[in-house]
Amino acid sequence: MKAELLTLLIPSTQSFELSSTHHNKTTSEDINMLLSYSNLDKKEYSLLLMKYVDDRTSESTLFDELFEEVCDIFLKKEVLKECGIVRKFLNTAIIECCVEKCVVCRGTGFLQTNNSIDKCIHCSEGNFIYDDYVRSSIMGVKKNYFVKYKKEYESIVEKINTIENSALSKIGDA
Ligand SMILES: [Zn+2]
Repeated sequence: MKAELLTLLIPSTQSFELSSTHHNKTTSEDINMLLSYSNLDKKEYSLLLMKYVDDRTSESTLFDELFEEVCDIFLKKEVLKECGIVRKFLNTAIIECCVEKCVVCRGTGFLQTNNSIDKCIHCSEGNFIYDDYVRSSIMGVKKNYFVKYKKEYESIVEKINTIENSALSKIGDA
């Protein structure tokens, strides 16, 4: 079972790697059955659907499931009063973990202008580069504000990556 196969659930998915030969072989029933037999917990299941199938409902489920844990991380910093900020950090971390392909060049790594084709500066070979400037603009906060809580942010990202790795190993893709 390859994680990319999950993308087949949504026909409009923007995946360039999938060859058309896969298309007839895997049905959404196959995928649902595999998922139901693989002992995924709610977070793992939501993350897979969100990341590989672009399922919006799963995104909010994952958000809700993680929100309290993320509040705990920030509680130690005593910033919980600024409630909105916890949401912004969690949202951005979810985006960073799930949107790997560059949105500017659509994951090709190149940008075409009228008379030339240039290397896209926003990514490395099609993989979007998240730096502190990008992260803080997704969040809508000043960069120095983000940097103040960078450690906390990194532990959210780590948390999400751990969930993904666990999920992928359960479906046999890691
Ligand atoms: Zn790019």
